[in-house]
Amino acid sequence: ASKKKGGNCFTYFTPRMQEHAEFRMGLSHDLRQALGKEEFFLEYQPVVDLQTNMVVKAEALLRWKHPTKGLIPPMDFIGIAEDNLLIVPIGEWVFNSAIAQCRQWRQTLHPMFQVAVNKSPVQFAAEHRKKEDWLFEMAKNHQEGNMLVVEITERLLLDGSSQVSERLAQYQQAGVQVALDDFGTGYSALSYLKKFPIDFVKIDRSFVRELGTSSQDAALCRAIIVMAHSLGMQVVAEGIENQRQLLMLQEMGCDFGQGYYFSPPLGPEAFALWHHEWHQHPAILSR
Ligand code: C2E
Ligand code: MG
Ligand code: MG
Ligand code: MG
Repeated sequence: ASKKKGGNCFTYFTPRMQEHAEFRMGLSHDLRQALGKEEFFLEYQPVVDLQTNMVVKAEALLRWKHPTKGLIPPMDFIGIAEDNLLIVPIGEWVFNSAIAQCRQWRQTLHPMFQVAVNKSPVQFAAEHRKKEDWLFEMAKNHQEGNMLVVEITERLLLDGSSQVSERLAQYQQAGVQVALDDFGTGYSALSYLKKFPIDFVKIDRSFVRELGTSSQDAALCRAIIVMAHSLGMQVVAEGIENQRQLLMLQEMGCDFGQGYYFSPPLGPEAFALWHHEWHQHPAILSR
């Protein structure tokens, strides 16, 4: 922090910062063992088609059950896992688990089921050195490829690296779709929307939150939807927590929605139960 502010500004290392640093170091150490000790698991949040009410997609979200500290949210450990590159093997585990789950749900829930997986820029940077076997397997078998949506952020596209465009083109060939996550919170240089093969734009939940109360946020959501549609992309709204937000987004022509209003992220069994309930009572939308 002192560096950012310039040479004349001193910041003190307070006891709280010390504690924080120690907490991070502890987590960093424990993360090394977490994969082998099977402390990770995935939860799945339904992605609802706002035109038909159907659910044939879910976003996989990583969870870490620490043996003594309990459940640690991804925001508290993904940064650390990026710093020590553990995000690479952890990310591979996430992909493999999500694909295995999706394969099963294609048989039990819906033949076109898709799972979205988050992937940080560090994972892209690390993987270009080795080829991803699953990608090549999928390229051979398009049916498997179209099980996956990879969620990236604007951060990844910012430097316009050719490695990134190559990788995204490989995804496209393998049938893997790409979603631009947290849209609107980053740099929002719109030029990359036409430069990269992006299938979905996910409106960040900070815009959805104020939909009913802020006319600016409503205008932004509407503009994102119109723009994405005119570029041939579909729109997912995240963080829908009430019916008001849902109705506004539906009226704006938003394609998909995610949020606590429908369901929080769920373990696989709970997700399957929720899925059956949902399709038995689709009227739940007008609750
Ligand atoms: P994200 O990809 O934008 O995921 C959406 C986050 O919003 C999730 O938090 C989800 O639980 C939460 N959420 C969903 N609906 C609502 C709602 O209605 N209201 C509110 N307030 N929140 C809602 P979560 O699971 O804590 O994940 C946080 C972030 O961690 C994710 O943001 C993603 O960037 C990252 N992440 C999660 N899993 C992975 C992973 O496997 N790999 C990588 N690289 N990043 C991951
Ligand atoms: Mg995401
Ligand atoms: Mg998101
Ligand atoms: Mg987000």
